[in-house]
Amino acid sequence: MFDLAYSRKGLAVTSLVAAMSVAGYATAGVTDQDIVADQDTVGDVVSNGMGLRAQRYSPLTRVNGDTVEDLKAVWAFSFGGEKQRGQESQPMVKDGVMYVTGSYSRVFAIDIKTGEELWQYDARLPENIMPCCDVINRGVALYGDLVIFGTLDAKLVALHKDTGKTVWKKKVADYKAGYSISAAPILVKGKVITGVSGGEFGIVGKVEAYDALTGKLVWTRPTVEGHMGYLNGKENGITGGEAGKTWPGDLWKSGGAATWLGGTYDPDVDLLFFGTGNPAPWNSHLRPGDNLYSSSRVAIDPDTGKISWHFQTTPHDGWDYDGVNELVSFDYTANGKKIQAAATADRNGFFYVLDRTNGDFIRGFPFVDKITWAKGLDQNGRPLYNEDFRPGNPADSKDGKQGKTVVAAPSFLGGKNWMPMAYSQDTGYFYVPSNEWEMDIWNEPTAYKKGAAYLGAGFTIKAINEEYIGVLRAIDPVSGKEVWRYKNNAPLWGGVMATAGGLVFTGNPEGYLMAFDAKTGEMKYRFQTGSGIVGTPITWEQDGEQYISVVSGWGGAVPLWGGEVAKRVKHLNQGGTVWTFKLPAKAEMAAK
Ligand code: CA
Ligand code: CA
Repeated sequence: MFDLAYSRKGLAVTSLVAAMSVAGYATAGVTDQDIVADQDTVGDVVSNGMGLRAQRYSPLTRVNGDTVEDLKAVWAFSFGGEKQRGQESQPMVKDGVMYVTGSYSRVFAIDIKTGEELWQYDARLPENIMPCCDVINRGVALYGDLVIFGTLDAKLVALHKDTGKTVWKKKVADYKAGYSISAAPILVKGKVITGVSGGEFGIVGKVEAYDALTGKLVWTRPTVEGHMGYLNGKENGITGGEAGKTWPGDLWKSGGAATWLGGTYDPDVDLLFFGTGNPAPWNSHLRPGDNLYSSSRVAIDPDTGKISWHFQTTPHDGWDYDGVNELVSFDYTANGKKIQAAATADRNGFFYVLDRTNGDFIRGFPFVDKITWAKGLDQNGRPLYNEDFRPGNPADSKDGKQGKTVVAAPSFLGGKNWMPMAYSQDTGYFYVPSNEWEMDIWNEPTAYKKGAAYLGAGFTIKAINEEYIGVLRAIDPVSGKEVWRYKNNAPLWGGVMATAGGLVFTGNPEGYLMAFDAKTGEMKYRFQTGSGIVGTPITWEQDGEQYISVVSGWGGAVPLWGGEVAKRVKHLNQGGTVWTFKLPAKAEMAAK
């Protein structure tokens, strides 16, 4: 059929058609094999996470502890316009072209060698979009000849890689109900897999799979217990629970559990791992029960959308401890046996190591200095609550309008928020961008109204220490020990990358791209990018040279929701620039 289409259309065949095979998989451009192999293939970056497991680890060694001091910026590309804020994107690189998103649902294709723009796509957004946490976007997915991304009005858009022209567009959810998309989609077995944002508006979280070449919906998996999943247009049954079982009355109908950070995929167990946000509303007294599958990690069959297992980090969440943070697969050996593990650093302040085959809890430990809401975890990883630190029930107050205020740590922006950690296959450590902060939080009465904030809570975030809020930590997932830490004045909000060159890269809101010795935490390099870094660095090799890129442009949730912390960092300037670095040519090095 493929050959026939080719011969019949002859030279007139479009590159899109050429990219299609009978099975619906891409056979040209970026293929499934390219994506599965991404971590080991240094010539490109074709997945968010630099590999579907999202270890954000590169085998490249040219830039290392000895050479990194010579790293030089080779070009900087401005996103332009007046829309300079909240650049949380991870760039992708294929065949000498970088594909990167900017704030306000924009995509840019850039020539790697020169830094020149090849094309720009601006989504036409309606006036009344409702992004909770700035107008951010975290990156594209690549497949065949397509560049695919999600928009702030909750659509998936597929663009042609050479022109930036729209090939297909799909509405994923109703932006008027508070839905949006800010995460990078992932590409697994020919399907675009996306989550949705909107947990602060009482939406119903879901994970969906679309045929990447055509945009046709394959399956949908709501992440609030009681909602039906669909496969090829037919119900595929409720998995793991029934309506109202872990929710009172009808609250599951607007239960939140937004899948706003996207997911990872592990080929060993053939499962997608998605995290889910807070149950809605924040006021936990309105919804007794565990409120599945909110504040959880769920493992989903990529072929059918069925939930294979779940692990709830914060049952009956009362602090907005979204459980969305990435679950990263890694292996280690214990008693001579290989353990197929996965780790996640939760907003609630605990670091979890799970068995990725079945979701069983292996161990958990605090990764921030101060946790008040729980005294620890039990043998199954369930928190041991300290009820003194659950914000009080408004119904217990004299006028019923405001419950008791508590000072809870971490703050709702989390011990770690969206910013992805990295795992080094050399050191065996996770490098976790974290923050030390707490909050005043209280509950208020509330009711669901479509398209309106649905919190039932008020809050003020405060720093715990005078000198620093951000802490980059090297954590041994087997011993549970912190190996080193780097303290940063402003809260850390950018992603991390580890390399076989023995380095760990990240950026800070003060504007520096920084490189640390992976074993000791010694800072080996820093470069001022002119605005705060809240994006995630990547590295790749081209023509025998190692490149590093990062997007700079302060913004995101901290300036909007950070309370006293937002005041403390209000001097930081916004921006929107991709910076690209490499070592000087060998001749230059020799002359040095
Ligand atoms: Ca690659
Ligand atoms: Ca939330």
